Amino acid sequence: MARLIFSFDSEDYETPAADDTELWWARTLTRHGLTGCFCLVGELARALRTRGRRDVVEAYQAHEIAFHSDMHSAHPTHAEYLEELDWDAGVERLLREEGRGIADVRSITGQQPSAYVKPGNSWGPQTAATLPRLGVPIFADAPLEWAPGVPIWYAGSLCLKYHLHFDGYFRDPEDRLARMQRDLLHLLEAHGDGYVVMYTHPCRLYTAAFPDNFTAGKNPPRSEWRPAPLRPEAEREALKRDFDAFVRWVARDLKPEMATYRQVYEAHAPGRERWLNRDQVRRLAGAAPPAPGPLQWEGGWLSAAEQWSVLVGALALGEVHLTWPKQVAARRLLGPVETPARLEATSTAAIGELMAAARSALQDAERTGRMPASVSVRDAKLGPNALMQACARAIPRHFRARWPERVTLTPADETPALAHRADFAALRFQHTWSIFPPGFEGRRLLELARLQAWSARPA
Ligand SMILES: [Zn+2]
Repeated sequence: MARLIFSFDSEDYETPAADDTELWWARTLTRHGLTGCFCLVGELARALRTRGRRDVVEAYQAHEIAFHSDMHSAHPTHAEYLEELDWDAGVERLLREEGRGIADVRSITGQQPSAYVKPGNSWGPQTAATLPRLGVPIFADAPLEWAPGVPIWYAGSLCLKYHLHFDGYFRDPEDRLARMQRDLLHLLEAHGDGYVVMYTHPCRLYTAAFPDNFTAGKNPPRSEWRPAPLRPEAEREALKRDFDAFVRWVARDLKPEMATYRQVYEAHAPGRERWLNRDQVRRLAGAAPPAPGPLQWEGGWLSAAEQWSVLVGALALGEVHLTWPKQVAARRLLGPVETPARLEATSTAAIGELMAAARSALQDAERTGRMPASVSVRDAKLGPNALMQACARAIPRHFRARWPERVTLTPADETPALAHRADFAALRFQHTWSIFPPGFEGRRLLELARLQAWSARPA
């Protein structure tokens, strides 16, 4: 059976009446001896402080604290500004604004947030690449995972989806408890030795809808924010009764192995970068797949970006008339952030020219932390896969062989294989979140997301 995480999107800073539902959920779990993960929006943490809710802040103490963005739905949302800014400017804005939110959540709760939960469907590969720099290496409610309940490393974050929500049972009281029990059991079995994340929005226990201040691109000043409408009292009491019974059943009868995001990270912590010796480099040169993708390697995996850094790194360290680099590091690079060059025709280059190109590509990667989208060899422009495949072909397979004099440059598939997988190919922004301005498509973000598949590997 999979391990179970209870995750709470604590986000409604506009509705003071919803503070009591934060308290109810935190205390209910504590009463049943369970640990939940409360994913706080920075603005809610500040609002609780402003509204004098020390009781809520103290009730969180028994639980894990995660982070659910600084301002959630306020415009521009992450996806909206990341679509417009270049990669580095987007990362800088995330560092500045989300850095403030994380610092506030940490001060107010006393815990460094363990995980990041995206607001609605607002994300970009830049968020996955930036939050670990703020000490938050887990991306929960991620748009991707390797397999149901199995995390994936992607753009530097350990990503896990959300799987089941209490919110799906708000509407229909008929047999509610039994349906929840059946659905959870089914998922715990289906996810094998992975995880099931069951989540809710605590606010929605009391509110009849989400606040609509920022719906469809609206962005009124703070003085015009309105609270969400509340549920009738009978409805909320019925929900509390059933959810309390469900949590009691989980704690006393089902007794699954519970997990926190921190434990997920500990179970999959990447450790230090790998090094490959000469023999391993030769073996990798023969094993790297033609379309970039993760490769099973000595009890773990190498992402396509790690393979690239080893094969290009071996050429960068190579010298034409000498032997081989003894050790090459598998750098954890990001994928390119611009459309890769596409080599149109086959040609050849002298080995020294390929080595010079590899050195320049690797220098670029050291400076930026990501693979360059285009590298020149003589007058040909190679995308990262064409370069990696040329390097793989140049590496002699026999341990006594020397570098070849010339190397063939051949067109290669520049889209990582994972980007073609059905769930990845179906990623969209349009019509996925009521907060986005109508017509928001995020096409560039989707292209960047595909390119970051270079960095992906199963956890
Ligand atoms: Zn949310």
